[in-house]
Amino acid sequence: MNILLIGSGGREHALAWAISGSPLCDRLYIAPGNPGTAQCGENVVLDIADHSAVAAFCKLHGIGLAVIGPEGPLVDGIADDLIAAGIKTFGPSKAAAQLEGSKAFTKELCAEFGIPTAGFGRFTDANEAKAYVASQGAPIVIKADGLAAGKGVVMAETLAEASEAIDMMFSGGLGAAGAEVVIEEWMIGEEASFFALCDGAHAIAMASAQDHKRVGDGDTGPNTGGMGAYSPAPVMTPALEEQVMAEIIRPTLAGMIARGIPFKGILYAGLMITAQGPKLIEYNVRFGDPECEVLMPRLKSDIVPALLASCDGVLDAFDLRWSDEAALTVVLAAKGYPARPEKGSVIKGVEKAAALDDVLVFHAGTKQTATDLVADGGRVLNVVGLGKTVSEAQGRAYAAVALIDWPGGFCRSDIGWQAVKREREG
Ligand code: AMP
Repeated sequence: MNILLIGSGGREHALAWAISGSPLCDRLYIAPGNPGTAQCGENVVLDIADHSAVAAFCKLHGIGLAVIGPEGPLVDGIADDLIAAGIKTFGPSKAAAQLEGSKAFTKELCAEFGIPTAGFGRFTDANEAKAYVASQGAPIVIKADGLAAGKGVVMAETLAEASEAIDMMFSGGLGAAGAEVVIEEWMIGEEASFFALCDGAHAIAMASAQDHKRVGDGDTGPNTGGMGAYSPAPVMTPALEEQVMAEIIRPTLAGMIARGIPFKGILYAGLMITAQGPKLIEYNVRFGDPECEVLMPRLKSDIVPALLASCDGVLDAFDLRWSDEAALTVVLAAKGYPARPEKGSVIKGVEKAAALDDVLVFHAGTKQTATDLVADGGRVLNVVGLGKTVSEAQGRAYAAVALIDWPGGFCRSDIGWQAVKREREG
C-alpha cells in the first residue's frame, strides 16, 4: 500500500524509517519531510492546513494509510477531514485531540473517571486564580489551558511568581492559549513518559522513555522541545506499566467512550511516579519528539499492521514485540537554540556517524543545498545509540556525535545521566 506521513521533524524521520521497512509499504510519501525522510521515501510539498488538498493528494496517489506525526494538524481536525474523504488515517479526531489541546478537558476527565493526577482548579478570572493560589500556598504549578508550544507551564516556587504567571497568561502573553488557566498541586517524584497504542476501545502498552527538556548539562537553563531521551525508562517496571494501563490508560479510553469521542492513535502519558503511585501530568496525542527516535529502533514488530489495527479498531487481537536493548538519543541543536537558533551553518560527517554499528542518525531541522547539508531549525539532528544498557547506548551515541563536524551546533554531554547513575549503582 502507499502511505502518506505528515510532518518534518526527527519524529517523522524515525517513523518514516520504521514504516519504509515494512513489507506492506509500497510507496511512502512524506509531507513536507526533511533530508532524512528523503532517504526513506519521497518528500512532497503539500499545504497541510488545507485538508481538502491533502485528501486530493491521497486520492491521486492511492494512499491506503495517512499517518499524522505532529499535534497541530490533529488539533486542527485533519484526521476527521481525511476520514470523511474516505482515507484511512492514523491519529485521533479533533474532539479526541482535546486530551492534548486542552489541559482543562483532561483534568475534568481525570476527576470524573478517578484517574490519578495532581489536584487542580480552573480559572478564567485572574483574581479568582490568585485567591485559589493564596488558599493553596506555594510551590504551585500554573498552566495555560491551550497549546502553548511548551511555554504554557510555570513552576512557581513562590506566591509572587504564581501571581506574575497568572497576570502574564491573562494579559494575553500566550495568546488564546492563556484565556483559561489551570492551577495544579506541585507533585514530587520521578518523571517518565509512557506510550500506548489505542483503537478507540482497546489500548496496548508500547514502551516507556525519559527525556531531558532543559538546554544545559545537569538539567539547567531554559526549557526546550527536548535535548535527548532514552528508552526504556528504568523507573517503569513491568508492574508499574500494568498499573499505569489499569489506573490511567484504560480509564481514559472508557471516559472518552462515555463522552462519545473514542480515542484512536498514540496516547502519550507524561507521568510522575510519586510515593502514592503513578499520576498523570499531561497527555499528548502523538509520539513525542525525541522519544519517537528511541522507540522506533526498539520496535521489533512491523509498525504498519499496528497502525492499521488502530484505525480499524482491532487492536485487542494484537501484540507488539520490543527489543530488550536500550536506545538513547542525543539532540544536536543549532547555536542560539532555543531563543534564536542560527540557520545555514554547514554540517559534515553525518554519513560517517550513521555508518557506525548500533547507531542511527535521524534528521530534524536540516536542509540539503546543492553542495552541503546545512542547519535549518533549532533541533537539527538526533544521534541514536543502541546497547544492552543505557550506559552502552550512551557511549555509542556520543562516539557517533564525535564524528559529526558542525561548529555551528551543540549538544548536551550528559543525556541519560540518571539512568547511567542508576545502572552504576546497580
Ligand atoms: P506539561 O507541559 O504539563 O508536561 O509540563 C511540563 C513539565 O512541567 C513537566 O514535564 C513536569 O516536569 C512539570 N510539571 C507539570 N505539571 C506538574 C505538576 N503538577 N507537578 C510537578 N511538576 C509538573
